[in-house]
Amino acid sequence: SVFVHRGGWIEVICGGMFSGKSEELIRRIRRAQIARMQVKAFKPAIDDRYHATGIASHNGLVADAQPVHSAPEILASVTPDINVVAIDEVQFFDEQVVEVCQQLADQGKRVICAGLDQDFRGQAFGPTPLLLAVAEYITKLQAICVQCGGPASRTQRLINGLPAAVDDPVIQVGASEQYEARCRHCHELLT
Ligand code: ADP
Ligand code: ZN
Repeated sequence: SVFVHRGGWIEVICGGMFSGKSEELIRRIRRAQIARMQVKAFKPAIDDRYHATGIASHNGLVADAQPVHSAPEILASVTPDINVVAIDEVQFFDEQVVEVCQQLADQGKRVICAGLDQDFRGQAFGPTPLLLAVAEYITKLQAICVQCGGPASRTQRLINGLPAAVDDPVIQVGASEQYEARCRHCHELLT
């Protein structure tokens, strides 16, 4: 009859640092590739900490990804043959990424986004909450709190070994900066 559903939807994988978002994104990419789907992955050009042209997880997995400077660049780079679009570190894009994901899903693509849902202060991070609102599927991962073993939903920022303050600049020249997984109770923020 007329009940022929169309493909195209948005999946979001969120959580704190070390929760396994990139690992999970790479797992989904691999499985789609095994099923002979055409997959194209993107990441913001500013994120080249581990890999210039790939998605890298903290446990060493890597998948190819095209670095882009803005969300519309993703739309322009997705050709009709692509079935699956993956975006890592989605929190670093601006709000335009929401409309880009919506358009791709409307075109029939499976869109998989991975990104931080909270910043180091525990506040909603960039476009991730907006994506969570429009996604069909949401996976929220937890790391393990390095202080108590509880569910680490937060990312602790340490500057020269001390908890960062609410208003510390995102980039601090000459300071040694470190991030670790912590639960809500162990997360500290200097005021
Ligand atoms: P994310 O993309 O969410 O930052 P990754 O997929 O890059 O996470 O890394 C997940 C990996 O990080 C885990 O498989 C584990 O090897 C490592 N890891 C390091 N610290 C922790 C922690 N506190 N809790 C859980 N995993 C951790
Ligand atoms: Zn804890």
